[in-house]
Amino acid sequence: MSTNRTFTMIKPDAVENGHIGGILEKISSAGFKIVAMKYTQLSTRDAEAFYAVHSERPFFGELVEFMTRGPIVAAILEKDNAVEDFRALIGATNPAEAAEGTIRKLFATSIGENAVHGSDSDENAAIEGAFHFSGREIF
Ligand code: GDP
Ligand code: MG
Repeated sequence: MSTNRTFTMIKPDAVENGHIGGILEKISSAGFKIVAMKYTQLSTRDAEAFYAVHSERPFFGELVEFMTRGPIVAAILEKDNAVEDFRALIGATNPAEAAEGTIRKLFATSIGENAVHGSDSDENAAIEGAFHFSGREIF
């Protein structure tokens, strides 16, 4: 994956609350092109592997429980400076601290149930995209 791509998930809370359309509209309006997308659900093993970097954190069990409780939308997005610009678009991890107009400010519930994931580096964007999509699912 090239450095103009990032990986996102619309998390179970946002799906449950009916925000798939609203979030995709924000993503599209901000100039991101969807190059891969699927509606899916993480197994416990998937979520533990995806968030392995957080396995020692006190909230890890809660995070895995949350991320597996219902379907998600996974997508690879393309835009110049994708990783950084997408992190700006989603806002701070804690929606209480997220800037006005950001996706987490608009759609998230709490620091745990924060509506969306966004990769934090080009390297992780490539790893996370490959976790969810095969080459022929990326356009
Ligand atoms: P992100 O990069 O902004 O998504 O944040 P992190 O990489 O720090 O954390 C990954 C995910 O773990 C967050 O998006 C939240 O869903 C969850 N998380 C982070 N901090 C907390 C916390 O203090 N409590 C709970 N329950 N979940 C958290
Ligand atoms: Mg992170």
